[in-house]
Amino acid sequence: MAYYFYEDRQHERVHIHDAGCGYYVRGVELQARQALVAESRWHGPVPTYDGARLEASSVGLQLDRPKCCA
Ligand SMILES: [Zn+2]
Repeated sequence: MAYYFYEDRQHERVHIHDAGCGYYVRGVELQARQALVAESRWHGPVPTYDGARLEASSVGLQLDRPKCCA
């Protein structure tokens, strides 16, 4: 399972999701249709959760662990 994380500049959070998460799938579709917020974007794939967490921490925003997956 690969992991992706969303750099949310609007709320100053980073959310990690796995590749099978509905939030991730919808989020990518949504972002493809409309530029939601400048500079907010998805990162990944990262092969492990710990790797995703490490990369997400380098963005410099607060890391949130959503309850939807991962
Ligand atoms: Zn998720």
